[in-house]
Amino acid sequence: MSQPHVEVYTKENCSYCEKAKDLLDSKGIEYEEYIVTGDEALFEEMVERAKGRKTAPEIFVDDELIGGYDDLSALEEAGELDAKLGLAETGDAAGAVAADGGDDVEHRRLVIAGSGIAGMTAAIYAGRANNDPLVIEGDEPGGQLTLTTDVENYPGFPEGISGPELINEMRAQAEKFGAEFENGIIETVDADDRPFRVELTNGDVYTADAIIAASGASARTLGVPGEDDLMGYGLSTCATCDGAFFRDEDMLVVGGGDAAMEEAHFLTKFADTVYLAHRREEFRAEDYWIDRIEKKVEDGDVEIMRNTELAEIHGSQADGVDHVTLLRHPDGHPKDKFDDPEFDGEVEVFDHDVGAVFYAIGHTPNTDYLEGTGVEMDDAGYLGVAGGFEGGQTATDVEGIFGAGDVVDFHYQQAITAGGMGSKAAMDADEWLENEADLTATGEAETAAGQADD
Ligand code: NDP
Repeated sequence: MSQPHVEVYTKENCSYCEKAKDLLDSKGIEYEEYIVTGDEALFEEMVERAKGRKTAPEIFVDDELIGGYDDLSALEEAGELDAKLGLAETGDAAGAVAADGGDDVEHRRLVIAGSGIAGMTAAIYAGRANNDPLVIEGDEPGGQLTLTTDVENYPGFPEGISGPELINEMRAQAEKFGAEFENGIIETVDADDRPFRVELTNGDVYTADAIIAASGASARTLGVPGEDDLMGYGLSTCATCDGAFFRDEDMLVVGGGDAAMEEAHFLTKFADTVYLAHRREEFRAEDYWIDRIEKKVEDGDVEIMRNTELAEIHGSQADGVDHVTLLRHPDGHPKDKFDDPEFDGEVEVFDHDVGAVFYAIGHTPNTDYLEGTGVEMDDAGYLGVAGGFEGGQTATDVEGIFGAGDVVDFHYQQAITAGGMGSKAAMDADEWLENEADLTATGEAETAAGQADD
């Protein structure tokens, strides 16, 4: 099969564009890149070819619209991307193992699930400890930091550092110490036997002596009418990726945490007015962010809608978001009250014109692949780990499986705390692997001695 003509429309400072290119690069695919930033004609061409979608990247294979990074990685997950890229006959372009569960399943001492800051730090430590780590990158390679503009609170960078740059530096550091990376998503872990069996959604299979779950968390959505149709057509979970596409429009940010503040602040660069809708009176965000947003309110760039929830998004894929329907009640949580007869008629329902909507309502941990392993999780899917006074703090209740970063920590959720947990998990895994090796050696010696006695 010959390689098809692959085209990628990108924009500057676009983490999903980088991820799409990384995925194509990892498969050795050549592509033409068209950077739409500052080029109105090229941007219009992209929107027309992408059937009205205004998000970057937009990827085309032999003129067929694939869509954005999510669509590209969904094809990869379904095991269909290689065929589309003309790689199917040559086997796995990334050089990973075959997937039939046969003898060619590759064994690794340590598999790290996730390539955010926790996974990267674990990979650096595990590489230095000669544990030969294989990092399965997950569906957001580089993790949430790649969606952040400036990281200003990571020690060592008094001027701040961009999230993607910080992650790229960490990856280079991990690779320097021997960590390997595979672009893929873990579907299941079988912990019934040892070594663990790790199956990827693209069909690749590994066995592993130990696993560090550092697979982070994904952006939450609301499930309101209009959401499915308009995601990518004016609705986004990443202001830094897509904000510039809606220049001079009014924009709505939903949420009341640091992410909502940061996104609203960032969007003032492009928006006519940014509306920030939060479901209750008090913000969850740090004072630092609240102060910055209040300054923007004083400047007339941001308008805050407290006790307000998004009920519906109106628009079309051809023309994008047109307006939203919002609910408001002075005591907060208007959606719950709207359905409650006790508050009959008290909830205000109103429409509001905006050209784009950005969700910033937190994240859900990516831990589905550990279901059935016996690893303890709470109702939301966060992993339980040992904690406590001594070492072994990142151990789950399944020996050999460790947890680090946002899959465990829903409280601190900072780059530095995730990195710290990543290093702990690598050290805990190292200790466990050493003890396992000792036990195996003892077991082998006892077996040999037993056979000699026979
Ligand atoms: P948070 O969980 O902190 O905040 C989520 C917000 O979304 C809350 O205000 C919550 O409302 C609201 N929300 C959740 N579900 C819904 C819903 N169904 N409908 C309406 N609103 C909803 O998440 P963030 O992503 O903001 O932050 C996560 C972590 O990352 C935090 O630790 C934060 O400090 C950190 N962070 C730091 C940044 C920085 O300093 N540069 C930038 C971004 C994040 P409610 O408050 O009522 O629960």
